Amino acid sequence: MLQPSKSPLRHSNLINGEWMSAAGDYFESRNPAHTDEVIGIFPRSGTYESSDAVLAAKAAYPKWRLVPVPARAAILFKAAELMRTDKEQLTNLMTREMGKNLDESKGDVQEAIDMCEFIAGEGRRFYGVTTTSELPNKHAETRRMPMGVAALITPWNFPIAIPSWKIAPALLCGNTVVFKPAEDTPACAEAFVRILLEAGLDKYPGVLNMVHGYGPEVGEPLVNHPDVALVSFTGSSEVGKMIAMQCASKFKKYSLEMGGKNATIVMDDADLELAVNACWWGAFGTCGQRCTASSRLIVHEKVLDEFTKRFVERTAATRVGNGLEPGIEVGPLINKRALEKIIRYMQIARDEGVHLLCGGEPYSRSERPDLAKGYFFKPTVLSAPDSKMRINQEEMFGPVTAIMPAKDLEDAIRIANGVPYGLSTAIITQNIRNGEIAKRDLESGITYVGSCSTTGAEVHLPFGGTKQTGNGHREGLGALDIFSEQKTIYVDFSGKMQRAQIDNQ
Ligand code: NAP
Repeated sequence: MLQPSKSPLRHSNLINGEWMSAAGDYFESRNPAHTDEVIGIFPRSGTYESSDAVLAAKAAYPKWRLVPVPARAAILFKAAELMRTDKEQLTNLMTREMGKNLDESKGDVQEAIDMCEFIAGEGRRFYGVTTTSELPNKHAETRRMPMGVAALITPWNFPIAIPSWKIAPALLCGNTVVFKPAEDTPACAEAFVRILLEAGLDKYPGVLNMVHGYGPEVGEPLVNHPDVALVSFTGSSEVGKMIAMQCASKFKKYSLEMGGKNATIVMDDADLELAVNACWWGAFGTCGQRCTASSRLIVHEKVLDEFTKRFVERTAATRVGNGLEPGIEVGPLINKRALEKIIRYMQIARDEGVHLLCGGEPYSRSERPDLAKGYFFKPTVLSAPDSKMRINQEEMFGPVTAIMPAKDLEDAIRIANGVPYGLSTAIITQNIRNGEIAKRDLESGITYVGSCSTTGAEVHLPFGGTKQTGNGHREGLGALDIFSEQKTIYVDFSGKMQRAQIDNQ
C-alpha cells in the first residue's frame, strides 16, 4: 500500500471544512482503460476518520437545520451553474477514472445538474399539510423535519450523478452529511464535493464531509456509528443486506438502491430496427454496468430469428475502446475484479450449455494491442432459453446479455417477473393493449413502454425497485421522504383541555 507523498496526485478527506490526510495508508485510482495512468492517490481511511467526520457533521447540524430551506436550495442552484461551467473538465475526468465514453460521462454530469436544480426547486415547495381538527378552536399541520447526520454510500458507475441523488436532498432537508464514495471513483466524488463547497457550503464547515476508503473499513463504521441517524446506500444487494441488518438492529432509517436483472420484452409487432438499437443501448451502454442494464432480452418467438440475427450483427460491430477517443461506444469494465467476474460467468454459461452468439471473452493482445492495458471484454450475446439458468437470474454487471424466446405476452411477462430483482422492465411494442398489460403486470419499480429499453431514468420521477432491488424507498421524486421525517403538530387555541375521540363521541 502506498504511503502519503507530496505528489500533486495526493488527495485528502474533507472533515469539518478542512482537507485532512489520513493516519494510515493510501490507495490509487487508475484509469480502467489504461491502467498505467494514475488518476490520484487517496487516503485509505478507517474508523478513526469516519468517526471524526461524523462528529464534525453532528456539531454542524444544530446551525444547518435552522438555515432557511430556500437558502440551502440556493447552494444547489449555484452548484448546478458551476457544473455547467466545468462540464467539459468533469466529463473528461469521469471518462478517465470510470471508463465510460465522453457522451455518457457528459450525461452523468448533466444528471447531477438536473438533480441539483430539481431538488433546489423543492426548496420553495417544502410543503406540509394544514388541516382541520375534529375539535373546535384547534387545527393541525405537518412539517418535514431533518434527521441529523446522514451517511451516504455510493457506487462507481454514476460517479457524480448518484452522489447528487443523495447529497442534494439530504442537505436540502437540513441534514448534515458524511459521504463515502466508491473507492474506484474518488476523484469524481471530490470534484463534485469541491463544486458544492464553491457554491457556498464552504461557509458551513462540517455540513458536508467526505471520507475515502474501502467499504468494510470506512462504510461499515459509518453505518454503525451511534451518531448517524440515517443511511442511504446504492450498490450491490449483498452489501445492502448487511447494511439493512446493521441499521435494523440499531433502529436507524435506511434506504437501499441495489442490483437488477432487467428484462426488455420485444413483441412480434415491434419495429425490429428500433428494437435492435434500443436493446443494444440497454444492454451495452456504460459497458452493461448500469443497475438498469437490459441483461435479459425476451423476444416473441415469431420474430426471434430475425431479431437475433440483426442484434448479433449490431453487437459484433460495437466500437470498443478508450472512451476518450471519438466514436467509441463502449469502454472497459471498472476493474480487474469485475473483468474476472464476467470471465467466471462465461464458464458458468458454458457449464449450463448456453449457446454463445458473439463475444464471450476479453480481447487478446494480438487482436487489439491498444486495449492490452485495460479491462476490456467483448460485447457478448448468449442464447439462453431456460429462464432459470444462473446467467438469467444473477446480476453480472458487464457487457453481456441473454436472449430468451417467449410464446406470447403472458409468457414474456412471466419470464420477466421470474427473478429476485425488480428495478426496471421494458416492452417494445406498437400495440396499446400489450403496453397496458405490461404496465399493469410487470413487477418492477420502473417500466418503459413503446420504443425504449430499460435505461433512461429522469431525475424528477421516482427511482427505485421492488423485491431485492430496494427496500421501498424512491429517490428523485420521493427523495424528500427518505431524508426527512414528518412531524404532526396540533395547535389548540380553545383555552381549555380538549380530548380527541372522547369529547365528541
Ligand atoms: P458495492 O460493492 O455494493 O459497493 C457500493 C458502495 O458500498 C461502495 O462505496 C463500497 O465501497 C461500499 N461498501 C462495500 N462494502 C461495504 C460495507 N461492508 N459496508 C458499507 N459500505 C460498503 O457495489 P458496486 O460494485 O460499487 O456497484 C455495483 C452495484 O450497484 C450493482 O449491484 C448495481 O446494480 C448497483 N447499483 C444500483 C443502483 C440503483 O439505483 N438500484 C444504481 C447503481 C448501481 P468500495 O468503494 O470500497 O467498494
